[in-house]
Amino acid sequence: MSGNLKTPETISRDKRCSYGDSHTHVFLPVLELEDLPSRQALRGKARCRNTSAASGGGASVSRRERIVGPTASSLPLAVTHTYSDTHSNMLQLPCLAAVVVTLMASCASGDTGYFWHVTDFHYDFTYWDHQLSCNNNVTNPGPLGDYWCDSPWRLVTDTIAAMGDIKSDVDFLIWTGDTVAHIEDEHLNVSLNMEIMQNLTDALDSGFPNKTIYATFGNHDYHPTNQFPATGSEIYNRTAEMWKKWIQEEEQMNNFRKGGYYTKSIWPNLRIVGLNTNLYYTSDKVTVNIPDPTGQLAWLSQTLQNAKNKTEKVIVTAHIPPGVHTPSRVVWFQEAFVAPFMTIISNFSDIIVGMHFGHDHHDGFKVFYDSQGQPAVPLFVAPSVTPWRYKLKTGEIGPPHNPAVRLVSFDRTSGKHLNIQQYRLDLPQGNLQKKANFTLLYNFTQIHHR
Ligand SMILES: [Zn+2]
Ligand SMILES: [Zn+2]
Repeated sequence: MSGNLKTPETISRDKRCSYGDSHTHVFLPVLELEDLPSRQALRGKARCRNTSAASGGGASVSRRERIVGPTASSLPLAVTHTYSDTHSNMLQLPCLAAVVVTLMASCASGDTGYFWHVTDFHYDFTYWDHQLSCNNNVTNPGPLGDYWCDSPWRLVTDTIAAMGDIKSDVDFLIWTGDTVAHIEDEHLNVSLNMEIMQNLTDALDSGFPNKTIYATFGNHDYHPTNQFPATGSEIYNRTAEMWKKWIQEEEQMNNFRKGGYYTKSIWPNLRIVGLNTNLYYTSDKVTVNIPDPTGQLAWLSQTLQNAKNKTEKVIVTAHIPPGVHTPSRVVWFQEAFVAPFMTIISNFSDIIVGMHFGHDHHDGFKVFYDSQGQPAVPLFVAPSVTPWRYKLKTGEIGPPHNPAVRLVSFDRTSGKHLNIQQYRLDLPQGNLQKKANFTLLYNFTQIHHR
């Protein structure tokens, strides 16, 4: 099904700001730089002003819009765009991507580090019998999965093995949650969720022995789904124990037991902050009207201030990203949490070198502005391992996804990111060959002509 899809090479030659393919009705915003704040800065950095329509088999759609957050008028809120890994294709916005490239390191100091970012496994333990995650009846499920379903165990283990085959000597891994499948609460319970997460924890740990994995919760990892509480809970406690070998420090273990967040020093000059942004999710009904559930925002602000005092750079990671999701234009955060969260990120945009999130299942990125209205912090949303496509009660269905993992290179000295190598598995082909052959889909800075 990839015959008509654009290849990264095709995309790099084609500098329009909107793309579509003939298989999916994907709506992509056209980036119109004239509408954006601090357009001079953007123009200077990204010399492409584009308004042209996408093409592609007649099924693609283009439109132009200015995307801002719900309270953007007074905030240096992110401009948000997404390119979507629908199927084996990459859809992208070259103009904003060029801005992101400028926020990454222009050259390495010579001390290059690597980390994997893997997210949204959504392991369906019922794949071979009840198919509880599948949105259609699948009569011939493939050994590596099906676009209508969450991941079978074979996809989980083969994905981890493929990551190790591609690059095992990474500095660390980032794992941004949603380990549990899209299965109704009545078929799950706390112990089952914990067992699923333990399985994945063990699989990643044995795939990358002696590597630290910076793991965070996804909204599906809680039971009942999404309902992360503002006070401690059994799931916080049990997961803290599960990930103790990676969190290590008692103070951070206490933070995790309190609310699923922690920080760790990666190098003397580089720190990671793992957040539980599920607390701000619109589907979390138990944190509504609580100003700062679990105290995470106050802690985040203080943690970043401490890092700044020590002249550290910071990588922020979590599951649910702030800002507007395109193409759906859904805002995942409850509105009350948008401004407080964005203000903290803006205040410390000079020390945050990159943010890595999951949840969208799409490949995407956002750019955050600093308090002067200048592009300052790139946020990268990694595509999912699960190929699952959603199906709403209205009948609307989402695009399928090829399982994906990404390798990020960074300058160990500055912490700045150097590049992203995006890998994906052509699922139909993998099922035919009964082999999870993950191949490079694109190389971020290469296709954007650094
Ligand atoms: Zn997910
Ligand atoms: Zn999620």
